[in-house]
Amino acid sequence: MSASTAFSTPVPNRRLFGPGPCNPYPEAQLALGLPLLGHLDPEFITRMDAVCDQLRRVWGTENARTLPLSATGSAGMEAAFVNTVHPGDVVVVAVNGLFGERMVEVASRHGAEVVRVDHDYGQPVDAERVLSAHPNPQMICAVHAETSTGVVSDIAALGAGKGDALLLADCVTSIGGMEINLDEWGVDLAYAGSQKCLGVPPGLAPFTINDRAFERRVEKPANWYLDLGLLGGYAVGATGGQRTYHHTAPTGMVIALQAGLDRIEAEGLEKVYARHAAAGKMLQDGLEEMGLELFAAEGHRLAQLTTVRVPDGVDAAAVRSFLLDEYDTEIGAGTGEYAQKIWRIGLMGHNATEANVTFILAALKRAIEVAG
Ligand SMILES: *Cc1c(COP(=O)(O)O)cnc(C)c1O
Repeated sequence: MSASTAFSTPVPNRRLFGPGPCNPYPEAQLALGLPLLGHLDPEFITRMDAVCDQLRRVWGTENARTLPLSATGSAGMEAAFVNTVHPGDVVVVAVNGLFGERMVEVASRHGAEVVRVDHDYGQPVDAERVLSAHPNPQMICAVHAETSTGVVSDIAALGAGKGDALLLADCVTSIGGMEINLDEWGVDLAYAGSQKCLGVPPGLAPFTINDRAFERRVEKPANWYLDLGLLGGYAVGATGGQRTYHHTAPTGMVIALQAGLDRIEAEGLEKVYARHAAAGKMLQDGLEEMGLELFAAEGHRLAQLTTVRVPDGVDAAAVRSFLLDEYDTEIGAGTGEYAQKIWRIGLMGHNATEANVTFILAALKRAIEVAG
């Protein structure tokens, strides 16, 4: 099993139908083999600017400060809090899954007085409860697409009632898979990840912040690497000035992201979202036809990430191992107490196709029969 060198045994060609990473768009995969550019090369800077523009379009924002952070989605979360939370700030966090929990943890570490608003897992965020949790919080936070439970929440409803608070949205699993209109929804800052519906390998965290949030930022955040004041000069378009060295941009990854975004825009955002919606619906209908029970509340189900209950008496882990060993196919387990109780099936980016649905339904049926 273990490879003594990178090339001594083939890397298995998995179907990545879990919660991410997904199989990249072929264009993004190919881009990883392109020649490497220096991070201050004018050719790279032009491409970085193009990527920032593409992110603005996919996100529905005009924010000048929009850039891919050189780290994964969790660093986007960290950047959001470390740059905006002043000690003692009241931060209301909607918790309806693992990533809401993580927001509570990260905000607390940066000195926030966190007011958490708990929801049953599988349920969407209840905007009314979140908005009435505190009379004047500095920030309100929610996950748009909760990957741990397969639920989408209404971010616009939070934006409509946020008052003077800043609104932070986790868009890691929504970006590239469903419509997002940050400016229209009243979102002040947001982060995402490259490896979910954008269909690019992991390693970059798209990030955006509007002027209102930027003006309230912490002057010298306790994290140099994610200091947005310094990063302004890193992404040239953000300041209009000269691009300055802050850290070495992961140039190859930025070009892979460019290729993924090119692909999405060439297909057309609406078509991409419709493709995700159709694949998710077909999968969910198919699972129910097999007699399985979906976990996420009806009417609030993500198309790109489906959660399904493990039937009584079936060994959840054995089914996942069978799929991996026999069919080179990865699906996700549940998180925390749901580890043995649900499976998570992602159809993200390039993987959101009817052909993949047909395959995974048949493969899962077989795995339950043989291994379950
Ligand atoms: C995957 C994910 C994250 C974390 O991103 P990493 O790239 O794993 O650091 C955060 N929020 C949500 C909703 C996610 O799905």
